[in-house]
This record gives sequence, C-alpha cells and structure tokens, in this order.
Amino acid sequence: MTPNSLNFSGGPGALPDAVLAQTREAIASLPETGLSVLGMSHRSDWFNAILHEAESNLRHLLGISDDYAVTFLQGGSSLQFAMIPMNFAATANAPPEYVNAGYWSAKASAEAARVCPAKIAWDGRSGGYRRLPDLRALDVARSSAYLHYVSNETVEGLQFPACENALAVPLVADMSSDFLSKPIRPDLFSMIYAHAQKNLGPAGVTVAIIERSLLERIPDGLPSILDFRTHISHRSNYNTPPVFAIYVLTLVTRWLRFDIGGLRAMQDINERKSRCLYEALDSLDGCVTVHADRRWRSQMNVAFTFGDKRLDDAFLVCARERGMTGLEGHRSLGGLRASLYNAVTPQAVETLAEALTAFSDERV
Ligand code: PMP
Repeated sequence: MTPNSLNFSGGPGALPDAVLAQTREAIASLPETGLSVLGMSHRSDWFNAILHEAESNLRHLLGISDDYAVTFLQGGSSLQFAMIPMNFAATANAPPEYVNAGYWSAKASAEAARVCPAKIAWDGRSGGYRRLPDLRALDVARSSAYLHYVSNETVEGLQFPACENALAVPLVADMSSDFLSKPIRPDLFSMIYAHAQKNLGPAGVTVAIIERSLLERIPDGLPSILDFRTHISHRSNYNTPPVFAIYVLTLVTRWLRFDIGGLRAMQDINERKSRCLYEALDSLDGCVTVHADRRWRSQMNVAFTFGDKRLDDAFLVCARERGMTGLEGHRSLGGLRASLYNAVTPQAVETLAEALTAFSDERV
C-alpha cells in the first residue's frame, strides 16, 4: 500500500490512486490538449466541457432533477455559512433555524447570526456533542427561512443515519464530509453544499445544489459575487474558477461512476470499512472510548481516544511506523480520529484495525 492509501486525514483527505495517476499526467500535459491542466484557460472549450461533465456526473450519481441548479463555488463551506443567510434569510417571514450538533454546525450558526437573527433549533453542546436530534421532532416555525444542519459532524464523528423526511420548512444541509459517500434524496432538500476536500477532490471548490424556486427569495443588491444567481447564470464561470480543483473533481466523479459503479456500491464499501473499524474498537474491551453515542456513529469520521494523551500519542507513533498518517484528533477535541472517506480502501482500514488491536495488546 502507498502512503497515499494510508492517509486517514480529516481533510484534505485521501484521493483514489487512479485519480492521482491521471492528475500527475494532467499536470505535465492533458491528453486532450497537450497543455498542463495548470495553464488551461477557464474560457477554453476544454474547460467548458469539464464543467459540463462535472455537473452531469453529479446529477447522474445523486439523481438531481432539473428543478435544482448545480454550481461550483469558491470560499469553501465557510463562505456558505455566510452566503446562505445573506441569500435566503432576508425576505423570509421568520429567521432561519440551526441545529448545533457539533463544531462545524456551531460555526455555521454563529456566522449566520452575524447576518440575521438566526435561531438555534437544537443544541448538543451541553452533552459534549455526542448525539444528534430527530430533525422531524424539532419545533421549527413553519415560516422560518430554512432549517440548517450538518449531515456529518466531521470533528466529533456524528452522522445523521439517513436523509430525513421532507419538513415543512426548506432544509439546507452542509454535507461537506459525507457527500457522495452514499445515495441521498436531493428532492428532500432546498439546498445541499459540500466542499471538495473530503470526498470530491482538492480544496478550492465547493459544490452547491440549490432548488431553483429558492432563488426567488434572494434580495436584490447583494454584491454580485455573493449572489447565487450570478454563479448559476454564468454557469460557474463568472470569475476565474479553480480550474485544477474542478478538473480533479471531474476525475473523482468519473471514478465513482465508472470504476466504483455508483453511490450504492460506494455505500457498501463504506459500510464495510466503518464496521471493520468500530468492531475493532469495540473489541478492545473498554481500552478506547468512541466519542459518538453508538446510534449516531459516523461512517466517515471515527473520533476516539485511549483516554490518556500519552497513549494516544504513542499510538500515533506506532501508526506512523506502519505508514499511517492523519490520525490526530481535531484540535478542538483532541484524541484520535480516523477519517474513512471514499478513497480510503477497506485494506487500509484493516491495517488500522490490526494496528489498534496490536497496540492495545502490547501497551494498554
Ligand atoms: N463544514 C464541515 C462539515 C467541515 O468538515 C468543514 C471543514 N472540515 C467546514 C464546514 C469548513 O470548510 P472550509 O474549510 O471549506 O471552509
């Protein structure tokens, strides 16, 4: 296994070996143009074809209908924390509501509060962000602009098990860390967004899928670059887009469609991976604690600790000796975290599970 295939980083994360090989070639010279992808004009026919393919692969993989626009943005998911309330809160009768279920959803609501009077529909902070609410049971005003939540809490390793049923209010989801890891029902959402640097490609591009009817709510007078309509009407080519990141994203969507065989197949692989790791952790007889309550365990990010910083650090050393990297916990939580994004192979997860078992036998 290559060092790339043993990268458990929370993001930017591992990319498939096949995609990295094509990317290396494209940096030297694209098969289609003979030029380096790094020097390709965003106004070229080649790039327009790439944009078209990226969108059509995403529509195909996720089953996105024409009622939704698909657009590629910059500024990461953090810019969406601000753009979403700027675009969709001003003309609504009641403020947007936010589910604070972890580090990133709390960031999203704090940013929204700088833009509009955002409400917190549910807050998991006092419980240490170990569980998630049932979205349908939340008391959300029907007239609220939207309900925002993060489908997979990257730091704490919590994941909503499935798309929730349609709610009476527009549902907006940050899917940055589980996008394309399994099939979803886009029609249940008014907006989905996800930055690339987990399951989609390198940092620099963020995908937004927006129900077209929601665009009518955007107030006039926003700076053009912060108005979703600008990016949609310019087909994601308003100002210079991140050509390289969108190119790699396209390769990843090709890989998912044609090598993996779609999101159902990807989901099966991801289920195998997370089952393997959680079974190993659970079999360590109380030596480790998984941060998330069992019901809400994430398939993408597994946050855990040996309960002693010295042991966690010692495990990092042992993992590094076996070629594994990226296992440090997020700076806000400490401990350890294994991110099992799409490009992390079942063999890599088995290697990690074996290392955990061997380490516990020897050291704990
Ligand atoms: N949302 C989630 C779920 C994340 O995991 C992250 C970063 N890891 C962000 C938002 C912030 O993304 P960005 O760095 O692209 O702004």
